[in-house]
Amino acid sequence: MTHHPAHLDVDAGHPGLTQVRQRIASAAIDAGRRPEDVTLVAVSKTFEASAIEPVIAAGQRVFGENRVQESKGKWPALKSRIQGIKLHLIGPLQSNKAAEALALFDCIQSLDREKLARVLADEIQRQGRSPELFIEINSGEEGQKAGIAPRAADRFIALCRETYGLGIAGLMCIPPADEEPALHFALLETIARRNGLKGLSMGMSADFETAIRFGATHVRIGSAIFGERHQKVA
Ligand SMILES: *Cc1c(COP(=O)(O)O)cnc(C)c1O
Repeated sequence: MTHHPAHLDVDAGHPGLTQVRQRIASAAIDAGRRPEDVTLVAVSKTFEASAIEPVIAAGQRVFGENRVQESKGKWPALKSRIQGIKLHLIGPLQSNKAAEALALFDCIQSLDREKLARVLADEIQRQGRSPELFIEINSGEEGQKAGIAPRAADRFIALCRETYGLGIAGLMCIPPADEEPALHFALLETIARRNGLKGLSMGMSADFETAIRFGATHVRIGSAIFGERHQKVA
């Protein structure tokens, strides 16, 4: 069926989205910041178009996904139908998927190694795209987690900029589940500041208010908007 869904045209509300937006605004104001300086990335991984459409109808345009393959299945159709959708890749990116990722995503938040920097630089040239790029920092130095170790961050940022000519928008981190996130947010902010980076992608459903207090410019929020995920994700 190819009918145009009428509910995308109306200014419908979405309770989860409305609540998260209000919480973002309050946290920003409490921190002496402007709510519009915090971009909400609605993390729609595992959710199908039918769950995403009401969030779009309620006005949300920036979405996060963690897998290229899954995103290719659901976003091209939505993007072609709705103006102004911005997609952020927040999960690990294999070099051999970099071309596909660049074609679909407006922002890649998971730049985490030199090989990927090299492949992205080549593909950016080839495709004539100018995605926003965030470098992922493994702030907790967890063995199983992607990202650049904090002590290697300055060098990697310089490498991306100088050797590969990449414009870096900011840094991203996913703090260890069992640690106080504020320490990690403060660390990310320190690394960003000393490298002249403005973007700070930090804060998820459980800790975005703290992240905003520490300067988050992008919060990545899934379950607080869409509800619990039933599908296990990496
Ligand atoms: C899934 C995911 C999120 C969102 O997590 P919630 O707890 O559902 O808000 C944020 N960032 C990354 C990198 C994720 O993979």
